[in-house]
Amino acid sequence: MRSKRRKKIKLTKVAKIICSITIITITLFALTFHHTNENLAEETHEIKEEENYTLKIDYPVLASKDIEEEVTTYITEKKNDFLTTAEELKDITSTKLDLSITYTLTSLFDYQALRINIYSYTGGAHYIKEEKSYYFNPKTGEEIDLTHFLVDETKLEELSDLAYYYIIKYYQDNNLEYDEEWIKEGTSTDIKNFTNFNFSENGLEIFFALYQVGPHSDGEISITIPEKKLKGIIKEEYLSIEEEKVDVITPPKRDLSKFVGKKLLAFTFDDGPSDGPTNTLLDNLDKYDARVTFFVLGSRVNTYQNSLKRAYEMGNLIGSHTYSHLNLFKLGDYDIMKEINNTNDAIEKIIGIRPDKLRAPYGNTNEHIREISNMYSILWDIDTEDWKYKDAEKIKENIVAHAHDGAIILLHDIYTTSVEGALLAMEELQDEYAFVTIDEMIELKGITLDKNKTYFNF
Ligand code: ZN
Repeated sequence: MRSKRRKKIKLTKVAKIICSITIITITLFALTFHHTNENLAEETHEIKEEENYTLKIDYPVLASKDIEEEVTTYITEKKNDFLTTAEELKDITSTKLDLSITYTLTSLFDYQALRINIYSYTGGAHYIKEEKSYYFNPKTGEEIDLTHFLVDETKLEELSDLAYYYIIKYYQDNNLEYDEEWIKEGTSTDIKNFTNFNFSENGLEIFFALYQVGPHSDGEISITIPEKKLKGIIKEEYLSIEEEKVDVITPPKRDLSKFVGKKLLAFTFDDGPSDGPTNTLLDNLDKYDARVTFFVLGSRVNTYQNSLKRAYEMGNLIGSHTYSHLNLFKLGDYDIMKEINNTNDAIEKIIGIRPDKLRAPYGNTNEHIREISNMYSILWDIDTEDWKYKDAEKIKENIVAHAHDGAIILLHDIYTTSVEGALLAMEELQDEYAFVTIDEMIELKGITLDKNKTYFNF
């Protein structure tokens, strides 16, 4: 027993010597490196091997004394907590405790990101892992957080939506169970939910701590939000997006002054694009100096991309009617987002722009859907019921009978009769009305749209 103990003490001494040599070597290495690499400052190492615990702490000496003080205080606090526990458990358990503190220091454009990782083992099955990140300007010491990279503070909401979306995607892609409420809470618009992040060439990586979006067994979760989703959310200088070349002509803006004083009608066409009906409509719009709005289905835009391109290049407005025309009231949040995101992606791929107007299928929208979609909600106030009648004359009469200034007319450009009915109505109404897109109408009426509202007319 006695000899065994002596042996252990000897070993500890040897370990101490080895550690001291290691410390000197690492420090020398760090100092040498310091001159060539601004990122890697000097380091502080602390290694202890006691009978009942081991402790290994590494942290950098930073150019910014303020940050360094903050880091040192944080680490010292964690170390003291650990030592107190070790002291308390000394005579109670033979388990050897362990504290390991490491760090990474990476460049983030003009800034540096210091990430402290703490693993403490004080019994039980696992280490307890904690981490904390600091973001700062190495020259001035100015500390920043993720808001520094946002276009403005309100963009945190959009980022929070994206984080929620990509975490659920992570769970679904890995066939894991998840708790929507938990995820919602862990990605809510509190900057404290976004304290660990990094910009990689693929986009913005966000790390979620243990328990933040799921139970302990899920571990830490990280997601990467692709750069192209961050346009308008993250300041441009922090994105290195290579624009995908989309061969589309930017439509010329119409001179709207010629319509001043005229009543306005917005013809809108859902459920397309299509080949025949959409093109028949496009062939005839110039006759009436008309431009219209298409609320297209994401699932169709690739197949009918020529119609979509043509419609857009002529100066018609392209909006979203979701991807698969589902009743959004019956979908979970993730699936709603998917319906909306996939449509915007599909449209962007073909015409290079993401629509900002949404017409929910069946007009089924509410506050919650408006919030998730983050688009302008546009419905209608003249329902031609074209899909039911499939009778051009009847559709025309319906439009003419209900036409009024600022009206939005619902039609579908998958039926030839609908297109014919619309053109007949234009023929009849052209002296009194101008036929404009939703965007042109709000411009002419001087309206600023609100994402919290649903519009039926203007
Ligand atoms: Zn529809």
